[in-house]
Amino acid sequence: AEAVGGGDKEAVRAYFNSTGFERWRKIYGSNTDDVNRVQLDIREGHAQTVAATLAMLRDAPDVPLAGATVCDAGCGTGSLSIPLASAGASVLASDISAAMVSEAQRQAQLAQAAGSPEFRMPRFEVRDLESLDGRYDIVVCLDVLIHYPREEAQKMIRHLASLAEKRLVISFAPKTVYFDILKRVGELFPGPSKATRAYLHSEKDIEEALRAAGWRVKNRGFISTQFYFAKLYEAVPVSGGSSS
Ligand code: SAM
Repeated sequence: AEAVGGGDKEAVRAYFNSTGFERWRKIYGSNTDDVNRVQLDIREGHAQTVAATLAMLRDAPDVPLAGATVCDAGCGTGSLSIPLASAGASVLASDISAAMVSEAQRQAQLAQAAGSPEFRMPRFEVRDLESLDGRYDIVVCLDVLIHYPREEAQKMIRHLASLAEKRLVISFAPKTVYFDILKRVGELFPGPSKATRAYLHSEKDIEEALRAAGWRVKNRGFISTQFYFAKLYEAVPVSGGSSS
């Protein structure tokens, strides 16, 4: 199997700096002009994933968001980084796509101008998940594992766990609705951008990877709309610290 870091990753980077950037910026935005029914549906599903993540993190008495260090791995346009920053978290927002990172930065500046007194400007970096390092109270990775084949996804989960002290929150498209999704993925990646393949993951694989890293799933969510499906896991270390 081709490793992430080979052609697959370069295709993903190129996609999210070009047609993928335009498509996903539209989906994650708030504009309703020029957004089709499928895109609106995905916007709604993704917004629910972001909201569920925030609810999980706001509910954690052992890790108050104000002052917590958060790594938002594959931050996209900042849909999660910005509300976390508004809650006073100290956020590293990184993405493989420079276009995504600069859009996230632009959105954060707008939010800061309009925003809460607690707002802390995130640190923005163009980098891939593989090169993330350091330690954070919370590591979050939403809707990124779809770009990772099975084994690379498991390896990535172990890597993300090694960066996290207290929480690891990840979402992925579950394999259980495989056939449904396959049909619909065609609508998400039409034309030449089909070069970026979509990988669905079984819950068993993801849980196994977490277990191997010394983490367990504490909370689960399932978000589904007509064209969007995500499993959401909030994981904690099995015993005190991370096992990396
Ligand atoms: N997490 C964001 C959210 O939920 O709003 C964005 C999700 S978007 C579907 C997937 C993002 O993952 C894109 O911004 C893409 O550039 C990024 N991505 C894909 N592969 C990556 C990698 N190897 N390293 C870092 N980011 C990556």
